[in-house]
Formats: sequence, C-alpha cells, structure tokens
Amino acid sequence: MMIVMKEGASAEEVRAVISRVEETGAHAHVSTGDLTTVIGVIGDREHVANVAVDDAPGVDRVVPITKPYKLASAELKPGRTVIDVDGRKIGGAHFMTIAGPCTVESREQLLDTAQVVRDAGAQLLRGGAYKPRTSPYSFQGLGDAGLRLLAEAKQETGLPVTTELMDVRDLDAILEVADVIQIGARNMQNYTLLTEVGRSGRPTLLKRGLSSTLEELLLAAEYLLREGNENVILCERGIRTFETAYRYTLDLLAVPVLKEMTHLPVIVDPSHAAGRRDLVLPMSLAAAAAGADGVIVETHPEPEHAICDGPQALRASEFADYLRQLEAVAALAGKELERV
Ligand code: PEP
Ligand code: MN
Repeated sequence: MMIVMKEGASAEEVRAVISRVEETGAHAHVSTGDLTTVIGVIGDREHVANVAVDDAPGVDRVVPITKPYKLASAELKPGRTVIDVDGRKIGGAHFMTIAGPCTVESREQLLDTAQVVRDAGAQLLRGGAYKPRTSPYSFQGLGDAGLRLLAEAKQETGLPVTTELMDVRDLDAILEVADVIQIGARNMQNYTLLTEVGRSGRPTLLKRGLSSTLEELLLAAEYLLREGNENVILCERGIRTFETAYRYTLDLLAVPVLKEMTHLPVIVDPSHAAGRRDLVLPMSLAAAAAGADGVIVETHPEPEHAICDGPQALRASEFADYLRQLEAVAALAGKELERV
C-alpha cells in the first residue's frame, strides 16, 4: 500500500510513519515530491496488513497498491521516471538512441561505429563483450578485452556505454566500464543476478524475456528496484509466437500498455526482433510513434563481415539518415532526441 502524507506534513511526522511501517517488518520506500511525500509500504501481505497509520498525524490517505509489482507500479509513482546517464536523459519527453555493434569485434570496428553514431546524434554506445549465444559453438564475445575496447571507445567519443552482464562474477569488471548494465532477454528471470545488479545501483537496461508477460517483466524490474536501484529502463525486444516469417514478434502494444502499468522508461529493440536490416527503420518509426522512450539498435561498419547479427545491423554509413527519420517521428510523439 501507499501512504500519502498531507501537503506540508513535517519531517518528524514522516519519520514517525516510517518507524511505524518498519516496526511491522515491512519496508518503507519514500518518494519526496515537490508538495507531498509518499511512502510505499513494501513487504509480504501480513506485514503490510499490520501497518495501521490512517489516523497518524500528517497522513492524508492510505491507498492500496493492487498490483503484485509495487515499486515499478504507476500507482506508486504518478508521472514518468527520467533517468540521467552521464548527462543524457531518458524518459518523459527525452528520447534516447542507443546504437553500436552486436558484439565488440576489434578496436577499429568499435571505434569506427562509435564515432559514426556519436556524430549522427546517438546518446549511448552499445556493444557486447559477453554474448549470450544460442549455440555454445558460436563466438562468445571478447570478454575482458572487449570491455577494455569499450572503455577506449568511451574515452575517444565521450559516449556513455551499455554492455551485457550475464554472470555475477563479471559484475565488478563491467561496473568499471558500463554506464548502463544490460540484462539480456535470456536472463530476465535470473533473480540472483538482478538482485546483485540492483545493489550496484548502476542504471540498468532490462530486456523482456522471449516468452515473458509484461507482469513478469515488471516483477523482474521489481528485483532491481527493491535493492534501491531506481534507474531501470525496460526494453521490448520481440517475443516468441507461432509466426516464423521473422525472427521474433515485436510486441509494440507493450509500449503504451507498459506505460499505463509503470512509471519506468520503455525502449524498443527492433534489431533483435526483426533479424533483418530492412525492417529496422519501419519498426523503429513505429516504436517512436507508439510512444517509446528510445530505441537500441545494432549498427556495424560492414555488416557483411560482422561476427554476429550482421543481417540485422544498420550500415554505419546509413545511420545518420536513419536517425533523422526517427527524430522526426519521435518529435510527433512529443519527444526530443537531444544531441550532445
Ligand atoms: C543483445 O542486445 O545483444 C542481445 C543479445 O539481445 P537479447 O537479450 O534481447 O536477445
Ligand atoms: Mn545481437
């Protein structure tokens, strides 16, 4: 449930309510707005039921949060969460473009791509050093050497970086480089990994599992939020359906529906859903039109020679044109793509 304090409730009254909540064994999650303070009561049903604060001084009203996800719920936090990644914003009126190769292959490949996407106006560089591959015989990523190249690309271009964490043993190494930690679709329900990433406090890009419902996605986000990490970006990347004409079914309805369910920013990955370069632009435009807060898109200087996911990578030479078109549709949806 959610305890809404009266406008002008004193700090002492807020503190007293927090103590009452914590005495029951529940956790108090405090959001301080311009006018009012809202205290989310998080815990198991029994603890929450024992919190009786209706008549406590300074309390305006007590509202139940009906959803199983609490901190992620739009009921808890009206308005949109805006996340700042090294000065680049996402959420609310801010559209973020994340671009780069599927995997880090070489210094030249990464730096060339980083420069192109930065010059075109992308806000964040993507690139996998640890790759979740369906086959154990496929290239698994450059690992630590890939992370070092990402650090170099960041230094050269000033672009913040996102890269995927698959194994908690790599967390410290990834924290040295990643401004945003990516949790891939296959790990969306790896709850121990989510808990550790939540504790790190680093902004996190959480991809929807291949066959996960939106409620399951939000409960996965809840694992991050519960550890005090409020900087969670959700990503629709295509789900498995009976359709085989393309790689996955890009569920764009997820965008407006997630925005009703949660205050967190929602982005779209058209590359992994489509599996084909020619589908990436139309689906990016559709994502922006649906109100997405950004896209994450694979880009490569020479997709024909890419080690993985070449057929879906945008050509670096075409990226600036792609971004111009995307920016126009994002603007129609009331969002600005800030060029840094
Ligand atoms: C990726 O972004 O590199 C990736 C592997 O995506 P997903 O987890 O969505 O398959
Ligand atoms: Mn890929």
